[in-house]
Amino acid sequence: MLATALFFFVPSATPAANSSPKPALEVLVLGSGGPRPFDRAGSSYIVMVDGIPRILVDAGPGAFVRIGEMQIDLEDVDVVLLTHLHIDHSADLAAFLNARALTADGPVTYRIFGPDGAGLFPKTSRFVDLLIGEGGAFAYQRTFGADETFSVHDLAINLDSARSTILDDHGLLVEEIATHHGDCPSVAYRISYKGLAVVFSGDMDASALPNLIQLAKGADLLVFNCAVLDPPGSPAQLYELHTPPKKIGQAAKDAGVKSLLLSHLAPDVEGQKEAVRRSIRVSYAGPVAFATDRLRVRVDDKRQPPKKIN
Ligand SMILES: [Zn+2]
Repeated sequence: MLATALFFFVPSATPAANSSPKPALEVLVLGSGGPRPFDRAGSSYIVMVDGIPRILVDAGPGAFVRIGEMQIDLEDVDVVLLTHLHIDHSADLAAFLNARALTADGPVTYRIFGPDGAGLFPKTSRFVDLLIGEGGAFAYQRTFGADETFSVHDLAINLDSARSTILDDHGLLVEEIATHHGDCPSVAYRISYKGLAVVFSGDMDASALPNLIQLAKGADLLVFNCAVLDPPGSPAQLYELHTPPKKIGQAAKDAGVKSLLLSHLAPDVEGQKEAVRRSIRVSYAGPVAFATDRLRVRVDDKRQPPKKIN
């Protein structure tokens, strides 16, 4: 079911890595929804590098099922980037680790990145410990399947923290910057390879846009979480957590990104896609698409015409 070269679906029965020639950088959408249960899994993506699944970005509930549906080979997925630790972005982390361990041929060394802790939210290293560390809820995981080593990194969360490079692996570069998501520590990520770049906003309110714009400058694809309508279309308190479409469009323009994928869609956004698109269009003229689960997005440096995919 081909829609465009830029945004197209992977039928659920088709192995994920079968296109030729293999794109340098590709995003598989495991989950395009948020915390409300409807027909989208929680936020989660796999980034493929040279056709090989390498990076898990967020692990929302339902990611595990989508990995199976899309027949994604986890053998080389050893990097996990968590934008924040809300349930709709992290609840399937243990299920992912379990699946990865069961499919591994040898020892696995994970590099897991996520925000530092504050208030009710543990730092990411503590979060991982609470799941699979000694005394953790799923401590048995370490005795199950492959030998696992965990290198977990807690990232700075103050908005004035400098952008940093957290991974530089044979030309695969991952950078991050702090964002702001109400009281929940949060970060955004930029993944670059062979001159291409994709940026994941995570959930963030508009106060963090200067950081996001800095991180996303010139990126080929910006995956921006679109969980609210323009005010007053959504409950007032949600604007302390999420960026409305008009500001997303302005940020995409200011960052000069080459394409925009709206994800983390809420039911009311789902029902107002044309209004959302019009709001984005006020500022941003590049290609805009709405994510769906199992969407496969080639990160391309060629500007594609806007294409509605759903
Ligand atoms: Zn969320």
